[in-house]
Amino acid sequence: MSKKTVKKVILPENEIPKQWYNVLADMPNKPEPYFSSVTNKMATPDELEVIFPKELIQQEMSQERWIDIPDEVREMYKQWRPSPLYRAVGLEKLLDTPARIYYKYEGVNATGSHKLNSAIPQAYYNKMAGIKKLSTETGAGQWGSALSLACNYFGLECEVYMVKVSYEQKPYRRLFMQTFGANVIASPSNLTQSGRAILEKDPDSTGSLGIAISEAVEVAATNPDTNYALGSVLNHVCLHQTVIGLEAKKQLELLDEYPDIVIACCGGGSNFAGLSFPFVKDKLNGTNIRLIAVEPTACPSLTKGVFAYDYGDTAKVGPIAKMYTLGHDFVPAGIHAGGLRYHGASPIVSQLYHDGIIEAQAVPQRDVFDAAVKFAKTEGIIPAPESAHAIRAAINEAIKCKETGEAKVILFNLSGHGYFDMAAYDNYFSGKLIDVDYPEDLIKENIRSLPDIK
Ligand SMILES: *Cc1c(COP(=O)(O)O)cnc(C)c1O
Repeated sequence: MSKKTVKKVILPENEIPKQWYNVLADMPNKPEPYFSSVTNKMATPDELEVIFPKELIQQEMSQERWIDIPDEVREMYKQWRPSPLYRAVGLEKLLDTPARIYYKYEGVNATGSHKLNSAIPQAYYNKMAGIKKLSTETGAGQWGSALSLACNYFGLECEVYMVKVSYEQKPYRRLFMQTFGANVIASPSNLTQSGRAILEKDPDSTGSLGIAISEAVEVAATNPDTNYALGSVLNHVCLHQTVIGLEAKKQLELLDEYPDIVIACCGGGSNFAGLSFPFVKDKLNGTNIRLIAVEPTACPSLTKGVFAYDYGDTAKVGPIAKMYTLGHDFVPAGIHAGGLRYHGASPIVSQLYHDGIIEAQAVPQRDVFDAAVKFAKTEGIIPAPESAHAIRAAINEAIKCKETGEAKVILFNLSGHGYFDMAAYDNYFSGKLIDVDYPEDLIKENIRSLPDIK
């Protein structure tokens, strides 16, 4: 295969990775342990077992470099993995750049984003543990869609707390989940204590990811046959996503290519982790490579947050983690990249950022949609608004290459398609999108309510 003429690289089924890569094995500084929001002491595996199956807790703590992917999970992965790697020939031409731009496309499965890579193993391990039902939250709807499909496949019930504003704005996402048999509830709801407490204070609350997590965790913690599943942030979720980077590396090898720059958008951090961690391994071994996490200026956890212990959810029911955070009370402005609105970031991604192993950038949303449309017109795929953050950063780097004349190799993750997000495009085209900066003052205020853990 020649990089001169290639448009896409597709691997055969038997090239689906047999193991996930666990970056914890190679990190010079490991992330700090979780704390319990009940005892304010280090969280014990027993406490986590109230909401997660043993196998996933083991993965969460494991220092093993390679972790076997169960056959049943690989069988399911076959439906769309290995996912294609494309060269962005059209985009390169438009930008008139000497850079070679590649993207790994994770929108080729039934739910349209990378999230299914973790939904399937999470449903599988819960099924094996004898669990009957999974509860979860969803913001934009991608994670809820992925978990609904995975639960349906393994014969589990699925209860999804969907942030109310999305529930109302995105009926097709809701119907998607319902088609796979999920019970979808607008959050805050009156079904949980956490939800009722919010509604008492503010009956018109449109909800937030932090509130929806509180509701879903509460349901899991109070029902013995129910567990909780999270679509990002946690170590085991980042682990499952590494199939993305492992495949991409192989695909680039076939072209005799290796990236100078690896880029992915960052919400909770799992899709960034998925593409970049296999390259973090190389970087720690001395390879010269830049790894860039891209977030919205409206929710800039890495670039503007503090590195501290914080609650993962609004009602403080879940574990406390050391991470970059804007404070657990943070409710971001209504930007359209719903999947990038979490107040914190993965503890692993946070530690790597803190140690200067990875970089982070924040981009405003009108620039993001400008990049999304350029990409759609030249590559023929309408990207998810989240993924378009990575496209923006990739375009910026390619433009720099034009100025310096350097033929760098840029790899980014197209984490999903935007076919359920046309209303956001509509707002962009009609000039209704505005750029929001997160106010410094609000960060300072939020950060005062962080838990007191040293
Ligand atoms: C959820 C989502 C994201 C954000 O993912 P993280 O792994 O939490 O950073 C990015 N892109 C798409 C398409 C998503 O659905």
